Amino acid sequence: MLPVSVVLSFEDALARILALGHPVLAAETTLIDDIDGRILAEDVVASVDLPPFDYSSMDGYAVSTSAFAGTPPVRLPVVGESRTGAVPDAMTPGTTMRIFTGAAVPEGADAVIMQENVTRDGDAAVFTSTPRVGQNVRRRGEDLRAGTTTLTRGTRLRPPHLSLLAALDLSSVSVARRPEVAILATGDELRRPGTDALPGTIPESNTVVLRAMARRAGARARALPFVRDDRAATERAFAAALDEADVLVTIGGVSVGDHDLVRPALEAVGVELDFWRVAMKPGKPLAVGRLARSGRRDAIVIGLPGNPASAMVTFALFGCPLLRAMQGETRPFPTARRARMTRAHAHDPGRLELARATVSSDDAGLTVTTLGNQASGAVTSMAHSDALVLIPADASGIPAGAHVDVLFMADLTA
Ligand code: AMP
Ligand code: MG
Repeated sequence: MLPVSVVLSFEDALARILALGHPVLAAETTLIDDIDGRILAEDVVASVDLPPFDYSSMDGYAVSTSAFAGTPPVRLPVVGESRTGAVPDAMTPGTTMRIFTGAAVPEGADAVIMQENVTRDGDAAVFTSTPRVGQNVRRRGEDLRAGTTTLTRGTRLRPPHLSLLAALDLSSVSVARRPEVAILATGDELRRPGTDALPGTIPESNTVVLRAMARRAGARARALPFVRDDRAATERAFAAALDEADVLVTIGGVSVGDHDLVRPALEAVGVELDFWRVAMKPGKPLAVGRLARSGRRDAIVIGLPGNPASAMVTFALFGCPLLRAMQGETRPFPTARRARMTRAHAHDPGRLELARATVSSDDAGLTVTTLGNQASGAVTSMAHSDALVLIPADASGIPAGAHVDVLFMADLTA
């Protein structure tokens, strides 16, 4: 545990939070219908060749190229057919066989001529071109050989991976279980959106976005009833949530105001705080810690600031990567891209700034434009940005035309 006065750099905070992802959650065998977005917990080794047999990529005629020794046209009797779902007879030398896309190439044939290039003349087919060996034939194992490792543990499964697993004849695979996330908003001013707008109240707008982001990161996330700025109620709610969830995400009350009860309440229920201040903007007050539980994995707490932009940015940068790390994802933090600033951005040195921005491109590559309102409470600029620009802590402003690192929201909350 660090002295509370320490302000961590963004990189140190991220490294510490990712370390909390270990050990990885247990694996569970899951039907391939239910694994989109989950993290693979085993290497997948192909047990079959892909394709599993030589097949035709065209509707046409299977031939042996040895029948094309002379000058075209070549005329061959059509004997039999090869259709999908059936095993064809071997092809008699000096004949041709009707064949359809996806059907097995018969023994004795080494090429397929597409039907558009063939003239039928009764029981015979007339070919005007000479095929090369393997023409329009997809060879067994040319895509993937049995015994090859094709997906590795720690891969986040996307839709095309599901198709590959199905093609490999797998109906289920081992994936990390989903982290259980409880989200708890604190504050006397909060009410549910769409309810009575009593003076002094505001609609609570963080839970809904954090839950959606947690779900996209593979978690099972639920929102708990809000707690008031009351020490006893806060402790009770924390204790109950920490008994059930893998990760408790609290919102608000994490600063140093008189009504900021989160940090003392976490300590009172036994949470060991790892750090609580990060040199970043937005999001400086951020509490991260863990609660030891006998015979179980430690519960992890992330105490987010209540300002909506701060809550979203800190959860995207720390919360989602933590959830991915807990599931064993190989690269839980997205890769930054380089982009060119279309206009200058003012910055006071001291903290890493995650500036909300829109991305576009021109002939020279990606371009990025930081938005005008970067206030921590500005929900519109969050909703209208598609990326965060990393303005280095020591920079005293970024001029137009400079190249910067950019994190895409689509990658952060993929
Ligand atoms: P706090 O972090 O509790 O000091 O709150 C900082 C600012 O964010 C205040 O303006 C709060 O009213 C606002 N805020 C806190 N929690 C939420 C929330 N869950 N939804 C919307 N705004 C919030
Ligand atoms: Mg508050």
